[in-house]
Amino acid sequence: MERYDIAIVGGGPAGLSAAYSASREGSKVILFEKDASIAHNIRTSGVTWISSMDKLGISGSFYNPIKNYSFISPSNEIMISGERAESCVLDVRRVYQHLAFEAAAAGTKIMVRSTVHDIIKDMSGNLAGLKVSTPEGNLTIEACMFIDASGFNSVVAKRMGVVNGWNSYGVGAEYECYCEKVEVDTWNLMVGSSYSSAGYAWVFPVSKNRIRVGVGTGKPYSNEDPTTQLHSILQKKLKPLDRMGRIEPVEFHFGFIPNDGIQRPSVYDRLILVGDSAGQSNPLVLEGIRYAIEFGRLAGAIAAKAISKGSYKESLLEYENVWRKQIGSKINSALKVQSRWMGLSDAEWDREIDILRDLSAEEFLDFIKAEFTTKNVLKLAMNHPKLAARNLFNLVLRR
Ligand SMILES: Cc1cc2nc3c(=O)[nH]c(=O)nc-3n(C[C@H](O)[C@H](O)[C@H](O)COP(=O)(O)OP(=O)(O)OC[C@H]3O[C@@H](n4cnc5c(N)ncnc54)[C@H](O)[C@@H]3O)c2cc1C
Repeated sequence: MERYDIAIVGGGPAGLSAAYSASREGSKVILFEKDASIAHNIRTSGVTWISSMDKLGISGSFYNPIKNYSFISPSNEIMISGERAESCVLDVRRVYQHLAFEAAAAGTKIMVRSTVHDIIKDMSGNLAGLKVSTPEGNLTIEACMFIDASGFNSVVAKRMGVVNGWNSYGVGAEYECYCEKVEVDTWNLMVGSSYSSAGYAWVFPVSKNRIRVGVGTGKPYSNEDPTTQLHSILQKKLKPLDRMGRIEPVEFHFGFIPNDGIQRPSVYDRLILVGDSAGQSNPLVLEGIRYAIEFGRLAGAIAAKAISKGSYKESLLEYENVWRKQIGSKINSALKVQSRWMGLSDAEWDREIDILRDLSAEEFLDFIKAEFTTKNVLKLAMNHPKLAARNLFNLVLRR
């Protein structure tokens, strides 16, 4: 049986980033990805923030910069324009493959087409190994430490019996499309019942003639199938598609994202959960890539150090403390805004986006990024004294 220091399940941004940092710390690392290649099946829209990508070393060649933000409701529409690009739409496949090559260069053994289907426990009931089906047949490996970066399904943690499924989650369907007329520096978020009965739709520009059009639906709030809804939006050419000329879907994307906030522990004996598997996502715009990369690197480095020190659970708690301190209260505040947004009628949405109309691009982005520091929210409430705006901002101050 092959033996590794660290075995990682999942070749998304969390697993690849953990693999990179653990390998750099000198650990012997193996990573399993069930798909035929890294980023073979895309499960994300790839919107993120330029400052975060700069910090993580993802250069401008990997994304399309965005400086205008359009918000469309059934009978209202606003545009918030920034002086410079603060957000971006990633070339997701290229970014994830870049992360994979970084991990491989640092020494990680990457196995694609390899599905982890079971775990092995030692005599004390601790996680000791993985059973994997690979193109060469079934493989069993042992490791000192395991990182569950399998995304929404948290396969290892579920097999260990330490977590159940998510209660609240988002389901998204998206087409990457050829598009005749693209405003390449503008994203569009669309809300209201004709777009999504509990969630929103989007048009994100990827490049000159390329867009991603998608729909996200919040479960269990709605039974709507986002794929059916997406087809309806495309077929009816709802705003803003009506002004974008010919649109031809060329690639389908589909995925799930947890939306329970910070509920489950992310550290168990010899096991770390990272990325979606740990619930590290901002529920306001279904985004988690920046957290997956940042906390993936943190998890890998801490796991490697724990092995060299020979102390597992205690060392791993450092990981849990760091990420929770950084985003825990922000995600919980974002959930409050999200639950308000889930319940809005079309007429209420028309009024709600008027609150956002008065925000500067910087304020809008802090809000949508869930940068709910007390200072930011107090500043928002003071700069926007209208009653409706105060109600919205006060919501996130009540922690
Ligand atoms: C519709 C939608 C749109 C989104 N849009 C955005 C966005 O615009 N911006 C943003 O930042 N985030 C977005 N997200 C969220 C973002 O995609 C996730 O937060 C991010 O992908 C989390 O990364 P991860 O590595 O934890 O999980 P994943 O990216 O899900 O990666 C997990 C990997 O594990 C593999 N795997 C699973 N089970 C096994 C197994 N048994 N054996 C081996 N491999 C396995 C999977 O194939 C997958 O490659 C979106 C999510 C959805 C669903």
